[in-house]
Amino acid sequence: MITGGDPPMNLDRDTAALRRLIDEAERIAVFTGAGISTESGIPDFRSPGGIWTRLAPIDFEAFLASEEARREAWRRKFASDGMIRSAKPNRGHRAVAELVRRGKAAAIITQNIDGLHQASGIPEAQVIELHGNTTYAHCLDCARRYEIDDLRIAFERDEAPPLCVGCGGFVKTATISFGQPMPAEAMRRAEIETRAADLFVVLGSSLVVYPAAGFPELAKHNGATLAIINREATPLDGLADLVLRGAIGETLGAAVAID
Ligand SMILES: [Zn+2]
Repeated sequence: MITGGDPPMNLDRDTAALRRLIDEAERIAVFTGAGISTESGIPDFRSPGGIWTRLAPIDFEAFLASEEARREAWRRKFASDGMIRSAKPNRGHRAVAELVRRGKAAAIITQNIDGLHQASGIPEAQVIELHGNTTYAHCLDCARRYEIDDLRIAFERDEAPPLCVGCGGFVKTATISFGQPMPAEAMRRAEIETRAADLFVVLGSSLVVYPAAGFPELAKHNGATLAIINREATPLDGLADLVLRGAIGETLGAAVAID
């Protein structure tokens, strides 16, 4: 790669600008979307050609109303589970974890459901999941937790959608489906982190889904600096102080000096 020989430290101009913003920030809010996980081989489900454009999503109302919809939701979950399970955090995840380790970022706000921020070493309590988590399941009524492997073994016997052994409620992956209310506690914490930040960094989100996309707007209106790293243009690029189009691992990894 030609870097143009730019001092300092062979960073290109954009990466150097990102590093400067990070160094000067007192408190960073990091907001991640599918783009950081595509670099770990997890497809962006909403992108053109993505699985959700071929299969109609099973919305929350259908999941509650129909045993067949629940069965189909679990079939799809088990069919895609190997891909989620084999994915490993990439350089972008490691760079974000380094910002947490340094105390620059108090928490990560994420639209991702793959658990890769936790797998990169960020404590569970410091990952705010706006769309939940697909690496485990829970009862919709009493919130009892279930592990995917245990559910799979039972499902493979008779394809019966799982019911809670405690209360009989429907068991669902701990994700937020289309039509399901946003998780109130995660939304509240994300707003607190956004308001506390003097630098808001978007990594790999197209910023088209509300209410999630409202956070960078809130940060900017609250006086924070806004940096967006995404492969495609976003509707908020015009609001941002810095827009980078490169790969997240390469760009943020270089800015944070993490391999
Ligand atoms: Zn239950």
